[in-house]
Amino acid sequence: MGFFKWVSLIFILNLFGPRSAFSDSSSTSNGLSEIPKRFLQYAKKPELFDWMVGIRRKIHENPELGFEEFETSKLIRAELDKMGIPYNYPVAVTGVIGFIGTGGAPFVAIRADMDALAMQEMVEWEHKSRIPGKMHACGHDAHVAMLLGAAKILQEHREELKGTVILVFQPAEEGGGGAMKVIDAGALENVNAIFGLHVAPNLPVGEAHSRAGPIGAGSGFFEAVISGKGGHAAIPQHSVDPVLAASNVIVSLQHIVSREADPLDPQVVTVARFQGGGAFNVIPDSVTIGGTFRAFSKESFMRLRHRIKEVITGQAAVQRCNATVNFFTEEKNFFPPTVNNKGLHEYFLDVAGDMLGTHRVKDLKPLMGSEDFAFYQEVIPGYFFLLGMENGTRGRLESSHSPYFRINEDAFPYGAALHASLAARYLLEFQQEVSVSDRNYHDEL
Ligand SMILES: [Zn+2]
Ligand SMILES: [Zn+2]
Repeated sequence: MGFFKWVSLIFILNLFGPRSAFSDSSSTSNGLSEIPKRFLQYAKKPELFDWMVGIRRKIHENPELGFEEFETSKLIRAELDKMGIPYNYPVAVTGVIGFIGTGGAPFVAIRADMDALAMQEMVEWEHKSRIPGKMHACGHDAHVAMLLGAAKILQEHREELKGTVILVFQPAEEGGGGAMKVIDAGALENVNAIFGLHVAPNLPVGEAHSRAGPIGAGSGFFEAVISGKGGHAAIPQHSVDPVLAASNVIVSLQHIVSREADPLDPQVVTVARFQGGGAFNVIPDSVTIGGTFRAFSKESFMRLRHRIKEVITGQAAVQRCNATVNFFTEEKNFFPPTVNNKGLHEYFLDVAGDMLGTHRVKDLKPLMGSEDFAFYQEVIPGYFFLLGMENGTRGRLESSHSPYFRINEDAFPYGAALHASLAARYLLEFQQEVSVSDRNYHDEL
C-alpha cells in the first residue's frame, strides 16, 4: 500500500473515529474501554490511596451536621487549591462546586454529600469522632474523599477532557434539603447528566450495583396531635383518653398498606414516634405520634398521604378525640423517588463493566430508603449506584446509620475511578454524538 493510501486510510479512521458506546455497547474495540482501567490503576497508586484515606479520617474525626459543614468545606477547598482546580463557594451555604476541563460544553456533574448524623459513635478506633453526639455513620466522609480522588485523577488527565466536569460537594443530604438548594443556586444549569454513588456495607468490595428506573423510594413524614381530655387514671370515665385513641390510630394505619395497597407495589407506613403522658396515674390531655411513609410512584405516595390523614382523624373521632395532622411539605421532609435514567444505565454498565468486569456489575433490588440525589434526577438525567465495601475475611460491616458503622477504605480506588471514568468518558462520547450528528447534518446539505 502506497504512502497516500495510508494517509487516506488514517484520515478515514480519524474522521469516523471510535464508535460511541451509546450506539455500540461493544466498546472494547476502541480506546474508550481503556479509560476506566487506566483510571483504576491510577487510583490504586499508594500515594493517591493514602491521600484519600487521610482526608476521610480527618473528616471522620470532625463530623458536621447539614449546612454546618464549614470545616469539611474548608478542607475540600484547600485540597482543590493545591490541585489548582477552580471552584465556586459558598453554594447552598457550605457547598463547593469545582470545575475541571475546557470550561465549555458539554458539562457533566459528579456529586458527593458532606454531612454527618446527630448520633454518638460507638466504634473504638484511632480516628473516632471527636464531637460528642455527631458521627459520620452514613459514609459521607468516604464520599467526599472519593470525589476528591476523582478530582485528582481528572485534573491529572485534564488534557483528555472534551468538556467540563462539575464537582458537586453538596451539604445536608440527611433530610436538610441540600440538593434542592444546590439546584436553586443554579449550579447545575447547562449540565447534561449527573452521577452519584453511595457506599454499601452489605455488597462485596470491587462491585457496583444499580438498575434502570426506580432504585429508592419517595419518602414523606407526618406528625399528628391527638387531643382528648386529661384526668385521673383511676377514674377514666371523666377523661377522654388520647393514649388509647393514638394506639387505635397506629393499628389502623398499619391496615392501609396491608389491605389497600397493591402487594406488588412496595409501600411502607411506619409510626416511629409516640409521645404522651408523664405519670403512671394521669391520663394526658394529648398524645403526639409521628412517622414516615414510602412509595415508588407519585400516585401511591399521594394516596398514602391522603389515607394517613383520613385514618388518623377518623379513628381518633371513634375514640371521641380530635386530631390535627401535619405533613411537613417543604423539601427537606419530602424526597421524591430516586429514578435512574435508562440511557445512563446502559452507559454505566459499559463503563463499570470495563473497569470491574461485567460479572462485578450487578442488578440492584429497589430499596425503600430515599436519597436527596432524587432532586437532581427531577431536573436533569441522573444516575445513582451503590459501591460495595464488604470484605468477607474482615467480618460483617454494620448497616449505615448504626453507631457501629465502619468504612472499608479499600473501596476508595473503585469509587474515585468510577466517578472519574463516568465523567470523562461521558464527555468523550457526548462529543462524538455531537460530531456524528454534525456530520450527518452537513452530509444532508
Ligand atoms: Zn444516611
Ligand atoms: Zn447517605
